[in-house]
This record gives sequence, structure tokens and C-alpha cells, in this order.
Amino acid sequence: MFELFKIGFLSFQFLDLVDIVIVSFILYKLYTLLKGTIASQIFLGLMIVLFLSFTSQAANLKALSWLLKFITDIWIIAFIILFQPEIRRLLVILARSPIFRLSIKPESSLFAQIIADAAYELSQHQHGALIIVIKSSGIRGFAETGELLNARLSKDLLTSIFFPRTSLHDGAVIINNGMIEAARCTLPLSATTVLNGESLGMRHRAGIGISEQADVLSIIVSEETGGISVAEGGVLIKGLSKEALKKKISKGTNTTQNKNLKEKIFASIKEKFGKNFVKQ
Ligand code: ATP
Ligand code: MG
Repeated sequence: MFELFKIGFLSFQFLDLVDIVIVSFILYKLYTLLKGTIASQIFLGLMIVLFLSFTSQAANLKALSWLLKFITDIWIIAFIILFQPEIRRLLVILARSPIFRLSIKPESSLFAQIIADAAYELSQHQHGALIIVIKSSGIRGFAETGELLNARLSKDLLTSIFFPRTSLHDGAVIINNGMIEAARCTLPLSATTVLNGESLGMRHRAGIGISEQADVLSIIVSEETGGISVAEGGVLIKGLSKEALKKKISKGTNTTQNKNLKEKIFASIKEKFGKNFVKQ
């Protein structure tokens, strides 16, 4: 069917052409993504072993192809273990791309209003708060570090949780699809400790940290200043008004933050191997 040409006994069909184009495109994209880092050398090594493995299979060298397949499997597992945090973050970027975003419902304007009102009231009282609004996939693992609530979102409930003398005020609240999923959650800290010459406290670092690892919007109310900040894709924006915050919550993530996140991922890949090992 749709035979394009024939070399000896090998017939080359239209589907083969499509197959080759798709695979080449994926490999090319992967290579350009990793270019300039030590990961690209590991990736190239993997391609060579894979090529040898296919050739030995085609030539029917059974033992050699078994050995090469074994090496390939180990190589892939080592690659995944070594770059596990970076792979996870790349998947977050993928989940944010427009193709996947079709399935994502932005927080409705009513929820955004409730959250913005609560954050504003907390800031007026200078009650520290960390509110994580989930944009796409949930962060069940982090929710489980705290107290699972699954309560309907309300402004009073949010402000009560962060009242300083309550047992739930410490740590982060996670909001998922109009529900307060959990409170008192422990989140991963960002490696960023200083921003624009100012050193960041734990609450701000935790807010940035989770936004680096998941597709979320972190809202941080400072206990020290009462200021409202948001973190998205690892980027912290300080000093938001109630209206600006509401807008942020109801709209999706944008691509400049994805770009920033990509740069951070490459920086951490480079850091893992030290400058000497990195092709510039
Ligand atoms: P603030 O401006 O409110 O002082 P900050 O960024 O200076 O904020 P800290 O003063 O260190 O931060 O705030 C400590 C609080 O941050 C803790 O009481 C706790 O509620 C929260 N916090 C600290 N670490 C984490 C973490 N890993 N995950 C979630 N919350 C955390
Ligand atoms: Mg502090």
C-alpha cells in the first residue's frame, strides 16, 4: 500500500516515511533541548548504542544485540535517575503547552475573587499565609504532608486557617478546583535564597519551590510586611494589589515563565556536572 520505492527486497512505503519523519523530529527536538549540556553527550552516546543495537539485530548477531540492548536499558535507567528532577520539570512545561491546556479549566472568577479577598484580608492583619492554587495536575504527594480537608472554598475558612494561634496556620494550604484540599502542608524549598539583593525567608522559598516543580500559582502573604506576592514557574512577583492578584488567579500561566523555568532546568543540569564538563 502506498509503496514509494523498492531497494532489493526492501519496499519503502508512505507510512515508513511518516514514521521516520516523526522519530527524527522527536530526536532533533530532544537534542536541541539538551544541546550545550553534558546530557547531550549522554544522549548522543545512547543514540550510538541504539544504532549499533539495531544494526546487530538486522545482521542477526544475537549475542551482540542482546548485550547492546542490555546496555541501552541500563543507559536509559541511569539517564532517568540522574535527571529525574529535570525530567519532572520538563514534563510540567509540556503540561503547560497549548495542546494540553485545552483540558485545563482555569480557576473560575468566583473562586479567584474568594482567594483574592482572603489574601487581602490576611495581608491587612499581617497574618502570614501560603496558598497554592493548582492549575492543572494535582500535587497529592505534597497535600498528604499536611491535613487533608477537602472543604468547600470560602474566604472565612481561608482566613481562619491562617489565624496565627490555630493549629493549621503553619505551612501551606492547597486549593484544587474550588476545594481546600489540605492545610499545614510542607513544600519543597527553592534553591533561590536571594532575590534582587533581598534574602528570602522560608515561606517565600517554599512558594517559589513548589511553582518550580508543579503547574501551580503560589500566593504568599508576608507576616513581616503584609505584602502579597505570587510565584509561578519559579518566578516571584512582589507587591500585588487585590485586583492584580484576582487577575493572576483567573488567567493561565504564560510562556515567559516557561522560558525562565527552562533556563533554571539547564542551570541545574550544568551545576550537577560542574562547569568543566559542560560544552559551551
Ligand atoms: P514572612 O515574610 O511571612 O516572614 P518569610 O519568607 O520570611 O515570610 P519565614 O519568616 O521563614 O518566611 O516564615 C516561616 C513560615 O513559613 C513558617 O512558620 C511556615 O508556616 C512557613 N514555611 C516554612 N517552611 C515551609 C515549607 N517547607 N513548606 C511550607 N511552609 C513553610
Ligand atoms: Mg520571615
